[in-house]
Amino acid sequence: MVELDRVTKSYPGGVTALHDVTLRVDRGEFVAIVGPSGSGKSTMLHLIGTLDRPSAGDVRIDGYDVALLSDRELSALRARRIGFVFQHFHLAPGRDALHNVADGLLYSGVPEKERLRRAEAALARVGLADRMRHRPHQLSGGERQRVAVARAVVGEPTLLLADEPTGNLDSVSGAEVVDLLRDLHAAGTTVLVITHDREVAGSLPRQVPMRDGRVI
Ligand code: ADP
Repeated sequence: MVELDRVTKSYPGGVTALHDVTLRVDRGEFVAIVGPSGSGKSTMLHLIGTLDRPSAGDVRIDGYDVALLSDRELSALRARRIGFVFQHFHLAPGRDALHNVADGLLYSGVPEKERLRRAEAALARVGLADRMRHRPHQLSGGERQRVAVARAVVGEPTLLLADEPTGNLDSVSGAEVVDLLRDLHAAGTTVLVITHDREVAGSLPRQVPMRDGRVI
């Protein structure tokens, strides 16, 4: 599902955030990426999510060599195959849960009525059937993150990437979000999660430890 082959990423200004990283994640894995702040975790997740391109080395996602795809083709790859969850939820403040989730299908060519139907199903799947008309400020942090997870999976991605999804949540809400990720993994989704939480990381089948821009 994910192949990084000798990947280096340098940012303008001279910071090299990743050095010669090689990583393979098979279809159906559930992986924790762990390491101190600044070790290159988010940079690696961005490259895997095709949000950015490497300075050197090869990135292949679901068999596609990212270097051979145009920006337009990359957008299509992301829209069809990759879901994202972020620490700060990134929900649109003025839109209710239903529309926030339906917007996850905006670039997939699905008509609006069908987008809303699928959003309803995704919200039911994360246990928020009774919160569809609530806007983000009317929801708890844990509920907001469950909306964000519903938005990430409404397009049925094969790969789910989560950057510190429990970083802003109390332990009970965090555990609920991790349980949700487990359910999605059990249903066949490949899941990569960046986490500072040792307990969460330790409970997952595989850990990828990072330090100073390298996988160790
Ligand atoms: P982590 O997610 O482990 O905290 P990051 O991948 O965010 O690590 O950052 C790795 C290094 O790259 C850090 O030194 C950070 O300051 C730097 N960095 C990250 N993003 C950028 C950027 N857009 N421009 C310049 N430097 C960046």
